[in-house]
Amino acid sequence: MLLHELRWEVVRYCRLMASTGLVRLTSGNISARDQETGLIAVSPTSLAYDEMSPADVVVADLSGRVIDGARRPTSELPLHLAVYADHPEAGAVVHSHSVHATALGLIDEELPLVIINLAGAGGAIPVAPYQTPGTPELAEAAVKAMGNRKAVMLQNHGVVTWGGSLGEAFSLATYVEEGAHIYLAARMAGGSVHKLDEPEARHILDVYHATLAGRGSR
Ligand SMILES: [Zn+2]
Repeated sequence: MLLHELRWEVVRYCRLMASTGLVRLTSGNISARDQETGLIAVSPTSLAYDEMSPADVVVADLSGRVIDGARRPTSELPLHLAVYADHPEAGAVVHSHSVHATALGLIDEELPLVIINLAGAGGAIPVAPYQTPGTPELAEAAVKAMGNRKAVMLQNHGVVTWGGSLGEAFSLATYVEEGAHIYLAARMAGGSVHKLDEPEARHILDVYHATLAGRGSR
């Protein structure tokens, strides 16, 4: 089976996305790009995550042509392909329907860098104006709003994140939801909200990477 390990990884993160409450039922979708071939392993449409196996994951090329797999890919494949086209360094894309981030999208407010775990997002997370799911218009609006960030909220719909790996893209999806939850709670409590600025976000990443490098050299 083509890209067996990558397909397994897509299944694992799909299950994790469901078990951690970022999606319900069959909503949301995940893809990962194989570095060697450039092919995409993407979750299939309309299949319960607990029933999904690697053989159900579809392999497609960057034009959207199915290369391997008996199922149809997610209807949001154009969205995934648009992110890969716009971000050559992207190795994975996660599309969730998490509740608090979607709520923030409804009121058309970006998510500021309110928690340290959002430092990797590249800046405040914007909202893409509503477009019909599964359309090229949605894909276009998402990448346009996202710009150089690694996440975007889709109005009336959900969240898209990307990263160099599935682990990175999934972590960011989790932290976007956590950040939106905390931000909305703070807003309801009243008073001003302390936000991290972009230089501090970069500093957080520098300290984090220096710590990792220090660990590696010991
Ligand atoms: Zn969706």
